[in-house]
Amino acid sequence: QKRTVVITGASSGVGLYAAKALAQREQWHVVMACRDLAKAEQVAQAVAIPKDRYTLMHIDVASLGSVRQFVTNFRETGRSLDALVCNAAIYMPLIKEPLRSPEGFELTVATNHLGHFLLANLLLDDLKHATAARLIILGTVTHNPDELGGKIPPRPDLGDLKGFADGFKEPIAMIDGKKFEPVKAYKDSKVCNVLTMRELHRRYHESTGITFSSLYPGCVADTPLFRNHYPLFQKLFPWFQKNITGGYVSQELSGERVAMVVADPEYSQSGAYWSWGNRQKKDGKSFVQKVSPQARDDEKAERLWELSAKLVGLS
Ligand code: NDP
Repeated sequence: QKRTVVITGASSGVGLYAAKALAQREQWHVVMACRDLAKAEQVAQAVAIPKDRYTLMHIDVASLGSVRQFVTNFRETGRSLDALVCNAAIYMPLIKEPLRSPEGFELTVATNHLGHFLLANLLLDDLKHATAARLIILGTVTHNPDELGGKIPPRPDLGDLKGFADGFKEPIAMIDGKKFEPVKAYKDSKVCNVLTMRELHRRYHESTGITFSSLYPGCVADTPLFRNHYPLFQKLFPWFQKNITGGYVSQELSGERVAMVVADPEYSQSGAYWSWGNRQKKDGKSFVQKVSPQARDDEKAERLWELSAKLVGLS
């Protein structure tokens, strides 16, 4: 039987090309978990993913109800689950006021972190039954102010997680309970992604054998992630990353990198954060990169876990 991978947000950018790269591997079947199935079908055809290599399933990762429904629907297909890629994300740098998820949480953190936190926890049971299962959460260099590319302010800071402790609903808009800052909300959510991966590893790697990991695929400067930025930024950013920082990675290559972390034996180390560096060299090799001081803070990981579990109704 084929191995099955679920990829959230597979209708665009990194997720779409990861779906394509995995579908090209004989032994994998891809479940593209997307919020807009018509769009997902269209783009899957546009990048020529063979029809018998993927299944489309609906999920709105910002909605806890929808995440639970997805898990029910997935189980009804009778497929085994061998890998989960938590990839979907939003970045809304220009908004002045927070948007809200169906449950009332600030939307960036609800989408990028809380929905995936619930999904990962629910699907652990399924992954446990597979051999050599993997759970991968997309990270990013901007989580880490110690790295070039992570230095541009505002810096992520979860503070003492007061916003989470106080319920994370109106008027609370940030994890640290401070004033709404959309760029920081994105970076905070990506710190949560790395902390969650590390805490999953600490709690469950030994008992389940599941490999938990994260990766920075490089700066994929022309994905629609930047669709909510100034048009001029969208023009200049890829150029800047190609010619000045050297961080630029094509969508195809980013997808191939995700596929390697999902499928290749070299990436079986659990608790690792994979990177190909900030400057892309031809045939550059991947390595396990140190995450930011905040993202390697074990106490913070545990507290984030407990508070997130409460917010999504797991405890
Ligand atoms: P895109 O904006 O191209 O893709 C994001 C995907 O997430 C889309 O498929 C989008 O769906 C989906 N999505 C957004 N909200 C929801 C939701 N509520 N429910 C379900 N799906 C949703 O971004 P990228 O491909 O650039 O980013 C993918 C991942 O890679 C993110 O985790 C990002 O942090 C990470 N990353 C990206 C980098 C980059 O330079 N681009 C660098 C480092 C990491 P739809 O198509 O319907 O909009």
